[in-house]
Amino acid sequence: MVLKAQAPSDGAVLGSFEETPAAETGRIYENSRAARDSWATLSTVQRSAYLKRFRHVLIDLQEEIADIISASTGKTKTDALTTEVMGAADALKHVEKEAPGLMSNEKVKTPIHFAGKASYINRKPRGTVLIISPWNFPFQLAVSPVAEALAAGNTVILKPSEDTPMVGELLRRLAALFPKDVLQVVMGDPDLGEALTSGNPDFIHFTGSVSTGRKIQEKAAKELIPTTLELGGKDAMTVFEDANVTRAAKAAVWGSFHNSGQVCLSTERVFVQKGIYDSFLTEVKQEAAKLRQGQDTDADIGSMTTRRQYDHVKEQVQEALDQGAVLETGKVPANWDDSNLFIEPVILTNVTPSMALWSVETFGPVMPIMAFETEKEAVTLANDTEYGLGGSVFTSDIPRAERFTAGMKTGNMNINEVLLSVANFYLPYGGVKNSGIGKYHGRDGMRSFCIETSVLADKGTEDNEIIWYPNAGKYDLFLDMISNFWGQRRNWKSFIQSYMNLNKS
Ligand code: NAD
Repeated sequence: MVLKAQAPSDGAVLGSFEETPAAETGRIYENSRAARDSWATLSTVQRSAYLKRFRHVLIDLQEEIADIISASTGKTKTDALTTEVMGAADALKHVEKEAPGLMSNEKVKTPIHFAGKASYINRKPRGTVLIISPWNFPFQLAVSPVAEALAAGNTVILKPSEDTPMVGELLRRLAALFPKDVLQVVMGDPDLGEALTSGNPDFIHFTGSVSTGRKIQEKAAKELIPTTLELGGKDAMTVFEDANVTRAAKAAVWGSFHNSGQVCLSTERVFVQKGIYDSFLTEVKQEAAKLRQGQDTDADIGSMTTRRQYDHVKEQVQEALDQGAVLETGKVPANWDDSNLFIEPVILTNVTPSMALWSVETFGPVMPIMAFETEKEAVTLANDTEYGLGGSVFTSDIPRAERFTAGMKTGNMNINEVLLSVANFYLPYGGVKNSGIGKYHGRDGMRSFCIETSVLADKGTEDNEIIWYPNAGKYDLFLDMISNFWGQRRNWKSFIQSYMNLNKS
């Protein structure tokens, strides 16, 4: 069986790539387990050196890699270079720098009543990590979790999306930069993904749709396999009257139309305060009119990546128009050129909750704009979704932005910015509600790829401990001890006296 790669923009055949048979799952896991010990035995600094070499190769080949990504996804070459190659290089550099400190043992405090003991957290790899990645950022969303998992000392099985197999093949070849089977890249569709999920990995890091995330979580739950699920979103941008309207308008255009809206953190709903609604709409339309579609280095917006996604967006826009939405920018779906996958950016007003566009992830270049009056109403509207991935707020009143952010039930927020929080790898990244479980990046996200063993250590010189047997004769001492350590009445003298007497007896 082969996976056929076709250029989304014009359907040109890019190549055929051999699929990994699902029947090989057992062998893939065996390879992974066999490679584990020698990789885990290396220090984090030594493992980071491999990541550094990987990064240098990636930079040497940056244009070739951007070409492959652009051809495979339909995104512009500049987008492929910035959000994919640059994003991956930055993720690698971050992990190289931070992993040795974050993934090592860590001393923690030991309370005084544990006198003579020490406490620390011991960190070690989980084992084999299964990483399943999507097609919208097929390079960066694979490299970034792979780097964190490998740095922690895990071996990795990566299954990239079947919709962008040429990028999968690129990743498979780059995996040769690591010792044998430390990073295995397998090529295949959901059936292979299912077989791998059933192969009993030690950890699963999944990026993709909510429906697949649920299936993976169900399987993982049976074996109690820990997971991180990075799923979809329906992010809101909220623009208050005191915002820099020009900046907000430009941000909305980039936030909604970047990568043709095929971004999990895409701005899918724009709420604008009544007083600036008209001027915001005018500016957003002017900005959208300047955008140029294509794939060359000067183009702003590429094509959709899959026919499936193109059809989904077309259906949603048509349904909204049928129900009374007003088309401010773009074409009515009947006039879309179905011979390719380019969608001219769409701006809609008069969007209502009964339309799918209001609540279902669009994942296309569509910006619905709605008006609001009060801050309270704005928070309610922005939170009115089953998703909780990200969002943004534009205002010159920073305390208001912080108050608004505090009211948002999302995993990520941007203040007077859009999308960018995910690109700061010091910030943990992940969604809440239906947008996912767990985090990667940041301190705790990177550490999610480690087993953490909590250790309490005693020198072992004393024969016995107060809390050990026998209990006889200790009751009053414990009463005294509890009062002294945790109560309001303190009488250290009597406690120490009873303790000494006990030790003498
Ligand atoms: P998808 O769920 O269809 O596929 C993602 C991956 O899962 C692919 O590699 C696919 O082969 C595999 N897969 C599919 N069914 C499987 C199964 N039953 N078991 C195991 N693996 C299976 O998602 P997609 O269409 O590739 O990606 C788009 C979705 O991903 C959107 O909803 C988007 O919002 C989301 N996404 C989220 C983030 C994030 O960080 N939160 C980032 C990018 C994309």
